Amino acid sequence: MGTPKYSGMVEDCCCDYETVDNLNEEVLYPSLQELVKTPFFRYFKAKLWCDCPFWPDDGMCRLRDCSVCECPENEFPESFKKPKRLSLNDLVCQEGKPEAAVDRTLDSKAFTGWTEIDNPWTNDDETDNDELTYVNLQLNPERYTGYTGTSARRIWDAVYSENCPKYLSQESCQEEKILYKLISGLHSSISVHIASDYLLDEATNTWGQNLTLMYDRVLQYPDRVRNLYFTFLFVLRAVTKAADYLEQAEYNTGNPNEDLKTESLIKQLLYKPKLQAACPVPFDEAKLWKGQSGPELKQKIQHQFRNISALMDCVGCEKCRLWGKLQVLGLGTALKILFSDDGPENMVQTLQLQRNEVIALMNLLNRLSESVKFVHEMGPTAERITEGH
Ligand code: FAD
Repeated sequence: MGTPKYSGMVEDCCCDYETVDNLNEEVLYPSLQELVKTPFFRYFKAKLWCDCPFWPDDGMCRLRDCSVCECPENEFPESFKKPKRLSLNDLVCQEGKPEAAVDRTLDSKAFTGWTEIDNPWTNDDETDNDELTYVNLQLNPERYTGYTGTSARRIWDAVYSENCPKYLSQESCQEEKILYKLISGLHSSISVHIASDYLLDEATNTWGQNLTLMYDRVLQYPDRVRNLYFTFLFVLRAVTKAADYLEQAEYNTGNPNEDLKTESLIKQLLYKPKLQAACPVPFDEAKLWKGQSGPELKQKIQHQFRNISALMDCVGCEKCRLWGKLQVLGLGTALKILFSDDGPENMVQTLQLQRNEVIALMNLLNRLSESVKFVHEMGPTAERITEGH
């Protein structure tokens, strides 16, 4: 398995493709799959209704109607707070597509004991208020939703052209290229998830893989696959850099057995000898922001990334917005960890992460890990089918 097209070192990183695939399949993927199911990591809070700052007249904002229920948490009877699948009839959403709707589940116990300090890389205000909705991510897999056309295209165009305009010219610096590659890698991962869980037949509600779509959108452009691997290693580097902090954090949800399991899965995931033997420094952040213009450049790119984060409020499909916001927050958290001013030895004392940031970071790493695995396993088949040999 694997495609020989991708051999050698992942661009700008410190490990090769084969090592990444092996490390992912043997260590990261199995631990992450378990970790994201734990109560601590499966509930994410987000402001899901539109307040798009860029296109105020956008018809998308009427789509708030597709929400299942937005009552404040304290209005819910106890029994409503237990994980419960909503029936398909409850999930009527934009363009009548139930697969685009968010299935909300609440668990008030899962939200205690973390700070609420805004992330300078993202646009979200994380202070708890009535506008935030808690969502069970396990009930809302990232997959095909039918969101397409002008609205989706406009968001991607804005993300690329307003925020990374000079990438293709020779002018752009290494830091801007890295921002572009992170966004492109995330875009590839979203497309891979659409392809891996696609509505093949609407009449019979049959879901499955769409390898042609994966080829058309990702595989036929080797850069997009490379950017996916790059983004995966970049986020992995952030998680390993914050390993001591993450190992000492509290994963308290009021369920001692589950919480012990979460702590043990975190340790298993971050088990240093295994990671270090395979890929000691997945990405070397120390080489960035050098030179006189470093601080100014960092501010500029931070501003660009915040714009990308704000654009997620304009995504016109609720479930896509949920995963868009979560994954951009995850990337923003990786940027915050890698580019906070203090050296790694001070990290445990100085780093402060919100609960939501940690959830976003780990769920993003899991999504990227799933995409890398799918591309590695199914890529050759997709290429054979589509290229007709
Ligand atoms: P798009 O994927 O819309 O791409 C637009 C253009 O961007 C392409 O023509 C190409 O020029 C460029 N491009 C594409 N991929 C890359 C890449 N990896 N790197 C660099 N450039 C690239 N749809 C769902 O079904 N489920 C979802 O969960 C979902 N989540 C979304 C989240 C966000 C934040 C956004 C903006 C959209 C989401 N969508 C989702 C929509 C989906 O991403 C596509 O926009 C849609 O399926 C239409 O695809 P397309 O073929 O027109 O190309």
